[in-house]
Amino acid sequence: MPQFVDVGNMSRWIQREGVERLMSGMIGYLEEDFRRWERFDKVPRIANHTPFGVIELMPTSDHETYAFKYVNGHPFNPARGFQTVTAFGVLADVDNGYPTFLAEMTLLTALRTAATSAMTAKTLARPGARCMAMIGAGSQAEFQALAFRAALGIEELRVFDVDSAAIGKLRRNLEPLGFRVMEASSTDEAVFGADIITTCTADKAQNTVLGSDQVRPGVHINAVGGDCPGKTELSAQILRRARVFVEYTEQTRIEGEIQQMEPDFPVVEYWKVLTGEEIGRRDEEEITIFDSVGFAIADFSALRFLRDSTAGTELQTFIDLVADPEDPKDLFSLVRSRRPVG
Ligand code: NAD
Repeated sequence: MPQFVDVGNMSRWIQREGVERLMSGMIGYLEEDFRRWERFDKVPRIANHTPFGVIELMPTSDHETYAFKYVNGHPFNPARGFQTVTAFGVLADVDNGYPTFLAEMTLLTALRTAATSAMTAKTLARPGARCMAMIGAGSQAEFQALAFRAALGIEELRVFDVDSAAIGKLRRNLEPLGFRVMEASSTDEAVFGADIITTCTADKAQNTVLGSDQVRPGVHINAVGGDCPGKTELSAQILRRARVFVEYTEQTRIEGEIQQMEPDFPVVEYWKVLTGEEIGRRDEEEITIFDSVGFAIADFSALRFLRDSTAGTELQTFIDLVADPEDPKDLFSLVRSRRPVG
């Protein structure tokens, strides 16, 4: 029977280990899979768009293990009492096709998105970066902050959100953990003096959350919120001034910040930095951008990390998901009436 990690057990796991301790483990799994990028089956995710949001399926396989994630993105949800993003995911055995592991992935997606951002920032941000501006203080924000502290030592945050209650929530969550949080009244104020800028807003629109005049040389931009056709955060001028790193080019051209650019706009797939084919930041003045949209291989890594970390503990339960009759040709045996006929 497949193993299962539900929301309660996922929360217990994260509380027990702590987000920052989990980051180094998850980044390790991500780096391992990004280094063997070429081994994976890759396809842009399958998206069903509506005026309210999107529902997506994200499959991949390394020919031993298959994975997919179901995820939605509904920017108007919080105003209706629902979250913008929810998800669950599956690992399956390629050999017989049976699912082996199932997990909630709303929390896990926040962890993996933050871990991927932090992984890339390790080689793209200026060494010695200490201060991060955060534009958008919603569900992903605390996870991003903790990942950047774990990987880069960032403890100073300058935060702007159009909803001041979201900034208040972030302060209540992060100040007790030792972060210094400056509440900004505008994006201008937030980005002033910041070494890294994380944009993590939700709006189904081609926005300019960040303009070119707000970005000084040497800054690393971690652009997380633009992850759908018609949903961007950065001005095209910033992209032209920067070196842009992506997960999977084919998907990012549809969904990322670079959807605004010409089809051959130059980008670097980040896995090449890990294999040494490309270098990360080249000098102090370079503007670097991680145009994050979230790719299936990162979910594969996150599920693998969760499965291995919680194996043999009470955090995994069995889920009776696969109808598996004793005689594999006698599926009907599972529904045959046990009462004698007549
Ligand atoms: P959320 O709705 O919880 O938070 C978004 C926040 O952005 C809200 O507090 C909102 O008030 C704020 N906001 C909206 N427009 C703004 C603006 N112009 N300036 C400042 N703040 C603004 O959403 P979330 O779960 O935190 O997700 C944030 C974004 O990240 C979403 O767009 C989501 O689709 C995306 N996302 C991307 C990945 C990835 O892998 N790249 C993964 C998960 C989520």
